[in-house]
Amino acid sequence: MTTKLIFSTIAFLYSFTLLAQKEDSIAIKKIADEVMTNGTAYENLRYLCKKVGPRLSGSPNAQKAVEATARMLKEAGADTVYLQPCMVPHWVRGEKEKGYIQLANGTKHDLKLTSLGNSIGTGKKGVSASVIEVKSFAELDALGSKVIKGKIVFLNFPMNPTYIETFRAYGESGIARWAGPSQAAKYGAIATMVRSMASNPDDYPHTGVMSYNDSFPKIPAVAISTNDAIWLSKQLKLKMSLTASIQNNSAMLPDAPSFNVVGEIRGTEFPNEYITVGGHLDSWDLAEGANDDGSGCVQSIEVLRAFKASGTRPKRTIRAVMFMNEENGGKGGDKYLELAQKNNEKHVFALESDEGGFTPRGFSFDVKDDQFQKLLQWKELFNDYGVYFFRKGGSGADIGSLNKVGAGLSGLSPDSQRYFDIHHAVTDVFENVSRRELHLGAVNMTALIYLVDKYGL
Ligand SMILES: [Zn+2]
Repeated sequence: MTTKLIFSTIAFLYSFTLLAQKEDSIAIKKIADEVMTNGTAYENLRYLCKKVGPRLSGSPNAQKAVEATARMLKEAGADTVYLQPCMVPHWVRGEKEKGYIQLANGTKHDLKLTSLGNSIGTGKKGVSASVIEVKSFAELDALGSKVIKGKIVFLNFPMNPTYIETFRAYGESGIARWAGPSQAAKYGAIATMVRSMASNPDDYPHTGVMSYNDSFPKIPAVAISTNDAIWLSKQLKLKMSLTASIQNNSAMLPDAPSFNVVGEIRGTEFPNEYITVGGHLDSWDLAEGANDDGSGCVQSIEVLRAFKASGTRPKRTIRAVMFMNEENGGKGGDKYLELAQKNNEKHVFALESDEGGFTPRGFSFDVKDDQFQKLLQWKELFNDYGVYFFRKGGSGADIGSLNKVGAGLSGLSPDSQRYFDIHHAVTDVFENVSRRELHLGAVNMTALIYLVDKYGL
């Protein structure tokens, strides 16, 4: 090839790239204008929060949410909508959970507490004992059964405020909630109180899943508010002699039948290649699950609607999936993977939104290096819509294993500063979601899916 030819080829490719970028930027603007003007995610979220409400796996409300989102997917213009049956754990909170601290001087301090998901109950009698505070598992191990036996263990693992990415702090401190109760039971504790996983001090107990290690006795586990945890830690530091009393009536019932909800737009060129976009439909029972994860569900439905309404016909089949049971079992995600494997489906990409409906900031990716390089070339197209980082590491709990069927994985990363104010607490309500922020998330999700669909990965 002559030098001249090389130069003209490079010039041609460069102008072709510029042209393609221009074309993509116009297409994304069209999608964005449609979603920001006519988006229905916010109204769908209102319905899910106010007409359905809390929707813990196995509950009648979870079934209502299945029916409601199937209807929303049809209204969004999905070519087909169907349900994937799956069995889910059925945990119930029971009534009248309460607790207090009795100080030696006679003062009684009522605790703002709530049972942790999957915990057994104390029964009507409740439990009372003196309290031992620990700030790490190493501390617990050092104390051993000599000190712990017969006590209520207070697991005080504050979220690290120096981590600007709050999910990192959650990942680190969350171990107190997930594994703490069994760790304490190992040394003979009779119950555990866990400091709520909240970034700011507040008066709300934040629930969340815990799981028992079968090698040790099952003991009741509750979360107390961060303000109560701070107060209690102070009393213990003053060497106050005190006892805690806890009563809760939660229980695990037999598994219950439920569903994932799936809506599809059939691809025009490669209908047997799948791109999944989803959120989880179940929520904790304390609140409306607006940010966790009603937002991700209605944004995923909006992705389908945006394709339809902006007249963008995908080459590949786009599936919006409402996963059931992310919070306390992950059975919906397991079922989706199982069916994808059984049906030999070719999955190109999967995107989950499960970090709240706040202003989008970026995407995380779990993809191969060459795929990541390709994705990085598109990053600039997102600048106008508030997304400024593409980084490797992490996607979403429901889609995390879809790499087994070939999918590159991604998660939407909204601003995380306020997420753990509302996470798994009574404050996770519709009023704490902004229409514009929610819809802007859907814009970026649709744009990413548009590009992956157009160019492959
Ligand atoms: Zn969630």
